[in-house]
Amino acid sequence: MSSDQRESQQETTVDGSGTTTMRATAATTTFSSQRLRINPNNEHRPESYEDLKLDFPSAVYSSLEKYLPQQILVSSREEKVKFMTDIMLRHLPHGERSRVSTLTSSLELLPFTVMSSDQRESQQETTVDGSGTTTMRATAATTTFSSQRLRINPNNEHRPESYEDLKLDFPSAVYSSLEKYLPQQILVSSREEKVKFMTDIMLRHLPHGERSRAQRHSVYRQKIITNYQPLHKELYTLAPMQCFVPSFIKAINESSEKSFRSIISEPSPGVFVFDMLQPSFCEMMLAEVENFEKWVGETKFRIMRPNTMNKYGAVLDDFGLDSMLDKLMESFIRPMTKVFFSDVGGATLDSHHGFVVEYGKDRDLDLGFHVDDSEVTLNVCLGNQFVGGELFFRGTRCERHVNTTTKPDEIYDYSHVPGQAVLHRGRHRHGARATTSGHRVNMLLWCRSSVFRELKSHQKEFSSWCGECFCEKKEEKGRALDALRQVKAFD
Ligand SMILES: [Zn+2]
Repeated sequence: MSSDQRESQQETTVDGSGTTTMRATAATTTFSSQRLRINPNNEHRPESYEDLKLDFPSAVYSSLEKYLPQQILVSSREEKVKFMTDIMLRHLPHGERSRVSTLTSSLELLPFTVMSSDQRESQQETTVDGSGTTTMRATAATTTFSSQRLRINPNNEHRPESYEDLKLDFPSAVYSSLEKYLPQQILVSSREEKVKFMTDIMLRHLPHGERSRAQRHSVYRQKIITNYQPLHKELYTLAPMQCFVPSFIKAINESSEKSFRSIISEPSPGVFVFDMLQPSFCEMMLAEVENFEKWVGETKFRIMRPNTMNKYGAVLDDFGLDSMLDKLMESFIRPMTKVFFSDVGGATLDSHHGFVVEYGKDRDLDLGFHVDDSEVTLNVCLGNQFVGGELFFRGTRCERHVNTTTKPDEIYDYSHVPGQAVLHRGRHRHGARATTSGHRVNMLLWCRSSVFRELKSHQKEFSSWCGECFCEKKEEKGRALDALRQVKAFD
């Protein structure tokens, strides 16, 4: 184990033992795979929750009740609280409970490292993490209404608006149902103002660490975006013709397994390689990153590095590229992952962490063996001239099997080519060999699916994509057949 790894391991521990107790509890409820009703049960008379110590305002719980599925509606008040808290926590940008449990369970199995994005903040009080999409929160924190309170008695005459078309921090049903508790002044204001007010109310009730972390990150991002002057503005909106090579665009337009296969090679099971970026786009991106680093150096701005293992590089989402990368994931990566990685939520990727890493002299040298905090990882080499830096893959593993031995057919080494992309499961164990000369920059997009993470937290016994689970299952089948044969022999 290198000293680098030990350091990131400690960071992980700090975070892993952090403020997530509530979430862990929420995760154990057997109900949480269920969803809220789309149409409220208006017959239902909600319970009062005012006597309980809760994560969110008691009015949120009372008003959310009529959206509960029948099975939960008839359960105890405690079960209902658990269920609703879980639902709301799930919608937090930070709220990746399964990530937290992944981290803690894998830690016991070191030398393996789960590379994760949002650890450093726990060490450096002034910085914040690299993931979340917290724009809404920044706005919420500044609302002039936030000193106002919810009504104690709901305004039952009020017909709530629909919030389903908005990207929100909490389920849209929470907003609709909370409306009748709004003070008159807010009730008559715009939908945006109402959203701000309600988000603010709910955030105020979050465990302290969680809330201040989210707000700090918002402020951090805002500070960068308002002060940093982009070099190539055209990078910030995705223009496919300027960004991608024609073969890639053609395959995505046709969007069939056949069209994807025509541009992709799969040199090892689960590792997909294809030409993706135009050389000119790679150059622009390299220059933009260089410009950003220059700005960081000049202003002495303390930036967050992309993850727990890389000391160099930058989070693209933090300086304005998040919506461009969102579009890239949704329109150009998800069509492929839907076909090749449906077993790990490839069809439902809904958030990302985008960053660049830099290797070479005066940069990171190599990267230890690890798995990513993603369902699917896109890794594209931007350039430049370099020797070494090969990616080594050693089989896909679930949390339970992360430290098991590699089978000979799982060993695969890949040499980077500028403009070329590698797509693999986050749980595909890998690392990067030393870049022995020159300078190498890669762009990474960790793609995540909240649906997959939710489902996975309820299905612990077997993962079809894990090389070890797969073998166990096969052996089990074999044993069952043997037993059957023996019974037959006695007949
Ligand atoms: Zn397994």
